[in-house]
Amino acid sequence: MTVENKPREKGERFALDRQEQQLTGERWTTARGSWTIFPQLCKGCGLCIERCPTGVIRWSSEMGAYGTNRVTVEAAGCMTCKICADYCPDAAISVVVEAGLDKGR
Ligand code: SF4
Ligand code: SF4
Repeated sequence: MTVENKPREKGERFALDRQEQQLTGERWTTARGSWTIFPQLCKGCGLCIERCPTGVIRWSSEMGAYGTNRVTVEAAGCMTCKICADYCPDAAISVVVEAGLDKGR
């Protein structure tokens, strides 16, 4: 599996070979790194929305894995804390803190 650590432009779509599946992620640049959603893995449970301390995760009008709405983020307010990724039961969110900015968590 190859994961690029470099934050990308707002909303850029890219492909990632994860567990022999070709997934398309949507990555957003945050203040300290990046936030990525993999729509093919999101089942729309809403746990990430409930747990985000800044309330920046929102329902998207786009569909996820099971024909339910998936989530997206208002990246400007994301503090890159990784809580959403930790709580997501399906590993549909990836949060990466840029090297050198990972103090505190
Ligand atoms: S990384 Fe933290 S602040 Fe950003 S969306 Fe996830 S829970 Fe919210
Ligand atoms: S916790 Fe994971 S599966 Fe549930 S809505 Fe959020 S991203 Fe989707």
